[in-house]
Amino acid sequence: MKYGILGDIHANLSALQTALDQMDRAQVDAVLSVGDVVGYGAAPKECIDLLREVGAIVVKGNHDAACTGELDDRHFNAYARAAVKWTRDTLTLKEIHWLVELPMTATLEHCQVSHGTLYRPELFDYIMSTTDADPSLDIMERPVCFVGHSHVPITLMRLREEPDRTAYTLDDDIDVGEARASLVNVGSVGQPRDEDPRTAYAIYDTDAARVQVLRSEYDIELEAHRIRDAGLPTVLADRLFLGV
Ligand code: ZN
Repeated sequence: MKYGILGDIHANLSALQTALDQMDRAQVDAVLSVGDVVGYGAAPKECIDLLREVGAIVVKGNHDAACTGELDDRHFNAYARAAVKWTRDTLTLKEIHWLVELPMTATLEHCQVSHGTLYRPELFDYIMSTTDADPSLDIMERPVCFVGHSHVPITLMRLREEPDRTAYTLDDDIDVGEARASLVNVGSVGQPRDEDPRTAYAIYDTDAARVQVLRSEYDIELEAHRIRDAGLPTVLADRLFLGV
């Protein structure tokens, strides 16, 4: 079985279309999303429609929850807050309802999905160190769990030969068969922050026990234009070119 995993999309339609095209070419059987479908970008409705069209399994991110009013956006920076307000004003009740209904986590046959952490996902904590990853690695019910939130690809693992130590790798081709538990941050589809502006997504081939984090060029100019035209803060367009 092949899963295609979408990192934080953030209403970036061109990036989402590019990632889905690549997944289609790779003949994935199911599409997963780690959440933050909306916020920052200017095509929230179109991105939701596309995910529904491909039957994606989607969990809730902090920007999704802020746009529905479920999460206080007081701790967001000014640009993120402006985008939350714009998104709320843009979405219809139908889309808001879809976002509200998203689960916090998903458990599938071969993997689990959450936005920030698997342990207490409603807190939307960041995994920035092996210590941050431990509570989630401890409770994993499948050998692989996909997360997003930081927009930076990284994999934290408990290797078979050293199950008590949490290791990490920045490799983009991960042998998850080597590990008892792998927590894979797949990067961000719509707003990469690892100084590589290309869209990021992953493919998990369960037969090969491998996860590949892939990058593709997409039409950043078009998406930046859309953001500026919408009257969103221009920094949200500019950062796409830099991958920050
Ligand atoms: Zn995000």
